[in-house]
Amino acid sequence: MSVAQHTLSQEAMALENKYGAQNYHPLPVVLSRGEGVYVWDVEGKQYFDFLSAYSSVNQGHCHPKIVNALTEQARKLTLTSRAFYNDKLGWYEKFTTQYFGYDKLLPINTGAEAVETAIKLCRKWAYEVKGIDMNDAEIVVCKNNFHGRTTTIISFSNDPVARKNFGPYTDGFIKIEYDNLQELEDVLSNNENVAGFLVEPIQGEAGVYVPSEDYLKKAKALCEKYNVLFIADEVQTGIARTGRLLASCGNCDCPTKSCEGTPEVKPDILILGKALSGGVYPVSAVLANNEVMNVIRPGNHGSTFGGNPLAAAVAVAALEVVRDEKLAENAERLGVIFRDAMNRYIETSTICKLVRGKGLLNAIVINDSEDSDTAWEICLRLRDNGLLAKPTHGNIIRFAPPLVMTEGQLMECVDIIIKTLKEFD
Ligand SMILES: *Cc1c(COP(=O)(O)O)cnc(C)c1O
Repeated sequence: MSVAQHTLSQEAMALENKYGAQNYHPLPVVLSRGEGVYVWDVEGKQYFDFLSAYSSVNQGHCHPKIVNALTEQARKLTLTSRAFYNDKLGWYEKFTTQYFGYDKLLPINTGAEAVETAIKLCRKWAYEVKGIDMNDAEIVVCKNNFHGRTTTIISFSNDPVARKNFGPYTDGFIKIEYDNLQELEDVLSNNENVAGFLVEPIQGEAGVYVPSEDYLKKAKALCEKYNVLFIADEVQTGIARTGRLLASCGNCDCPTKSCEGTPEVKPDILILGKALSGGVYPVSAVLANNEVMNVIRPGNHGSTFGGNPLAAAVAVAALEVVRDEKLAENAERLGVIFRDAMNRYIETSTICKLVRGKGLLNAIVINDSEDSDTAWEICLRLRDNGLLAKPTHGNIIRFAPPLVMTEGQLMECVDIIIKTLKEFD
């Protein structure tokens, strides 16, 4: 690295450190370009992106079809607010509700906003349809959840870093163990005020915890039994990431891996974000059938940017890419290959003891204490070797490359990962 080049990265990082709020701890690499599965830093070094902006860039960086939809729409009309109709929103809503099999969609911008929307929708349904007394509704959530960063959402987080000194907290949530049906049944059978069960089909931020085989199906059945809405936060797991269009699809074997309207589990409220736009623009959505969604009336909820024509155009293109390029099928196939290769290495490894995940949402568990910085050190070394990943909670490294990856590229990545881990064995 020459002195002049060194300066480019150093300068960009120094600017963020000096003028930006320090609410993140980025891996020291400064990116300036992306294409497909690759990103490049300001010095021109190429990397495999193994984070995909937390599964937002499932369609690959700067996908030409999505960027084209963005630029074409940007020249025509970007924002009207919902004070008026626009010619893209209804078209996007029709496309997306048919794509996922729901009556209606509520358009919003970020994942956290979509979760907030789902909470409000669930509560209003509880009072107006289920008949719970005013302000008594409870929503069941899981320990170690991650649903975003608003004050209400962090109120039911158990991550001290996300929570501490942000109180007072919002009431109305009951926390149970993830992947524990007995606890769910206990809480549902002992409490008539439960309105919803909010759950991640796989806990991503917590460290890619995949629940037991029939967990979601049985949890949904319990929700039906007690007239409680099953709310799936598929912001990270959705849009082909886990080898199905939605992780709620379970293990369906329909050829398109999109469960064609008969998923194993059909959430009453579906929360989408991240890859809904292919990482090009913030777009999120809440989907539900009329019985639930119709409790929302004019003025009850909204957002100035929610449902703007630019977002609508981008999201349709992003979903078309997922379907046309068969990204769910690719994620499923490559996921199996990835875990097989990692498992063969793990047999002889001392530093890595476990790989887990579904499709191309995977993680390895580093064999060191939770508060050691070994995972961080490994990520620095991966970066040096041309692959970008980030530790998540505990000593865990998440691996989530863009779903447009080829098998050849994946094998190159497996070589980099194993070579790097061996340096720590
Ligand atoms: C990322 C994420 C969110 C929050 O999305 P933002 O766009 O960052 O607000 C919510 N739920 C899950 C499961 C996520 O992974």
